[in-house]
Amino acid sequence: MEKLEVTKTLKIDFNLNPIEEIKKKIFFPNSSINKIKLREKPAFFYKFNFKTVFNYLEETEEVISEVYVFNSKPIKGDLSSYIVLDAKIPLSEIPDTKNAYFVAKEEVKKRIQKKTNEISLRLRLNLKKEKEKIEKKFKVETKDFHKKLEEITENLMKFAKSGNMEKIAEEKKFIDSLKEQSNFQALEKDKLHEIQLESQKHFLNVENKLENLTAIYYPIFVFTIDVNAQPLKKSFTVELNPISNNVTGISCESCSNKVKEIIICSTGHAVCKNCSLICESCSKVYCKKCLKNNCEICSKKICKNCGVRCFRCSKLVCKNHTRVDKLTGRYYCINCSKRCERCGEMKDPFNFKISKKTNAEICETCYRKEMQGKVLEGVFES
Ligand SMILES: [Zn+2]
Ligand SMILES: [Zn+2]
Ligand SMILES: [Zn+2]
Ligand SMILES: [Zn+2]
Ligand SMILES: [Zn+2]
Ligand SMILES: [Zn+2]
Repeated sequence: MEKLEVTKTLKIDFNLNPIEEIKKKIFFPNSSINKIKLREKPAFFYKFNFKTVFNYLEETEEVISEVYVFNSKPIKGDLSSYIVLDAKIPLSEIPDTKNAYFVAKEEVKKRIQKKTNEISLRLRLNLKKEKEKIEKKFKVETKDFHKKLEEITENLMKFAKSGNMEKIAEEKKFIDSLKEQSNFQALEKDKLHEIQLESQKHFLNVENKLENLTAIYYPIFVFTIDVNAQPLKKSFTVELNPISNNVTGISCESCSNKVKEIIICSTGHAVCKNCSLICESCSKVYCKKCLKNNCEICSKKICKNCGVRCFRCSKLVCKNHTRVDKLTGRYYCINCSKRCERCGEMKDPFNFKISKKTNAEICETCYRKEMQGKVLEGVFES
């Protein structure tokens, strides 16, 4: 393998205000940015200059390629749209370039593929012609041999028909002596050797030589963003890559998708717009994970704070469909709380008594009043 030495280091000067830039890319609709801290993380991409040498027959052809590798991928384009400065960066600070080199080399092979195919095809056709020439030449040299062989074969067929074994043996001897005389096997060997030499001459040798390796430094901007989502505080670490213009670091805590618009759930989850919901009782913002309940009477989506379990039927109900009995402190759904026919209020169904006066079921409060009245009645009578 070739030596992988960085021959040049450059630096890109991004003429931008990173904090202003990130503010254009990330939004907090239901909270406010309190503070943004910025630091830079060093990153590199690479420019490889390759020289490809094609060697075949007596010819040499050269092709120069320039390949940029960014994040382990070959990329199109060049540095012309950037302000590039010379930079003296110690080689020890540049990450290993082996992987980028393999990526670049594969890319060069791809780029020269068409040319390689063209030359290969030309060489194949040429070799075919040369082989035919050789075959022709040797055919002339063995012409006499083939003629005599044909005669003997004809004779052999004749004798085989008549079953003349003696003559057959004779003809076979002829063949052997003919072979010896004509030097046929040696000729055949020569021919193969010539073909072999010709094939070797037509072999295409392609060599990709790394001429230059430039490491280009650029900063990745790392932000720590503190936001205020009353009464909660949250902090995010976000990265902005100024080359790819990509923001990474924030994903929805519910669906895991990358987000630009971050909504803070009332319990602190950072979620995307699609995963945020509003409690239909208190109007607070929640995420899908936190807002899973519905009132079992009106089906409204309700948060943990807005749902109450009925003491009697155990249904979860919203505040609108809940009655609390002040005397017992128990919560009932509107279907289970009972209307007192004396005071007209919805009361704890387990706390009714029979009126001594009317025999009707009345609430505890009304019953107590009735009993008090009775006592008072007695007082005045006596
Ligand atoms: Zn989501
Ligand atoms: Zn609520
Ligand atoms: Zn949540
Ligand atoms: Zn109930
Ligand atoms: Zn309800
Ligand atoms: Zn009552």
